[in-house]
Amino acid sequence: MEFYDVVVLGAGPAGLAAGLSSYEEGANTLIIEREKYPGGILKQCIHDGFGLVEFKERLTGPEYAERFIKMVRNKKIPILTSTFVTSIKKEEEIFILSVVSKDGIIKVGAKAIILANGCRERTSKQIGIHGTRPSGVMTAGLAQYFVNIMGYLPCKKCIILGSGDIGLIMARRLTLEGAKVLGVYEVKNSPSGLTRNIVQCLNDFSIPLYLSKTITKISGDDRVEGVEICDVDENMKPIKGTEKFIECDGVILSVGLIPENEIAESLNVEIDNATKGPYVDQNFMTKVDGIFSCGNALHVNDLVDYVTESGRLAGKSAAKYASSKYKRALNPIEIPLNKFLYAVPQYIDINSDNNKVVMYLRSRDIVKNVKVIIKSRNEILYEKRYTHLNPPEMERIVFDFNRSSLNDYSIKILMQEG
Ligand SMILES: Cc1cc2nc3c(=O)[nH]c(=O)nc-3n(C[C@H](O)[C@H](O)[C@H](O)COP(=O)(O)OP(=O)(O)OC[C@H]3O[C@@H](n4cnc5c(N)ncnc54)[C@H](O)[C@@H]3O)c2cc1C
Repeated sequence: MEFYDVVVLGAGPAGLAAGLSSYEEGANTLIIEREKYPGGILKQCIHDGFGLVEFKERLTGPEYAERFIKMVRNKKIPILTSTFVTSIKKEEEIFILSVVSKDGIIKVGAKAIILANGCRERTSKQIGIHGTRPSGVMTAGLAQYFVNIMGYLPCKKCIILGSGDIGLIMARRLTLEGAKVLGVYEVKNSPSGLTRNIVQCLNDFSIPLYLSKTITKISGDDRVEGVEICDVDENMKPIKGTEKFIECDGVILSVGLIPENEIAESLNVEIDNATKGPYVDQNFMTKVDGIFSCGNALHVNDLVDYVTESGRLAGKSAAKYASSKYKRALNPIEIPLNKFLYAVPQYIDINSDNNKVVMYLRSRDIVKNVKVIIKSRNEILYEKRYTHLNPPEMERIVFDFNRSSLNDYSIKILMQEG
């Protein structure tokens, strides 16, 4: 059995950054990727806008991924591609991974594991649309794969359900390829995607965005022939009598992403219902010692640059943990879920020598002129006034805490008017 200090699952931007920083911290590191090539989902994101924070440049997804792949290859960090991790078991202090590759099934041992295995798209089944199951109904990621990787146009006249970023990007992409996008229909009363994508992908191409509307039925036998659209009430329930039939040959779903967590759950890693990813401390360690999480497997990010940052931090922490294990003392961070959709990390390890916290959070509602305050007992650790907070736009904040003042109570996040 081959043995490593740190094994990283997934060679997307999170896994590549995690592998690099783990290696740079001195750990014997292996990256495992189930696809034929590293790069994760970025391989199919051929539009630009990636890397503004990381490289101060506008790169396409493949260009951004390529930079990290080169760095990993230059350091000769091994990446096993076309290789799938089917299960991980903890035996005493060591993790044993069962790995399936073209050479058969092998076992790999590791002192620490980094889960960087990305997220999945919600499908039509998960949002309970009625009607037949004709071809032409697909997630935005699959449509992106058809167009950008395979060179197929999957529909000629379509509607997009959900205003998530991938759907907005695909509205523009399909239009550029000659398809007619009749509109983007969103069940909520505000869009789910970034404002920059609403402007650049819809407004610039005169694609209408309809809010408070949803699909109630898909029609067609072999192929989609149309959809029934309804207005929804304030509880997002369809309003009877508002049904309208729209003829189309494609329905593209952009109705949310969910962190991929089967492996985490099999290791009894506790999952946060708010993020659908694992609970972690400021070192990106989950509640199971030795298991780390980063990127979209931890929570769905809107910018790849923050995915890279979390991978880098997780990689560094995992390498440190592998070289000298320590006993943690986890204090929960108090996160008022009536004000915030979520905040990550959710715990502070007060035994760790790292007292710097990089926190990612989203407000629950669109709010104006508020202060976000991070507080320990009597001390304000961070305070910032925001003229505008919008749930699709993730905020990143950094603060330090004083370990000696954190013995038996947690850090609190507050949102105040003013
Ligand atoms: C369909 C889709 C399209 C997107 N398009 C855009 C976009 O246009 N613009 C944008 O800014 N962001 C986009 N995003 C967001 C994008 O996912 C993130 O910015 C970033 O790529 C996430 O990086 P990651 O490394 O966490 O995950 P990913 O890039 O998803 O990488 C995870 C990797 O883990 C591998 N993996 C999973 N399970 C295993 C396993 N058991 N064993 C081995 N390997 C495994 C996967 O094959 C994958 O390569 C998109 C996301 C999705 C899902």
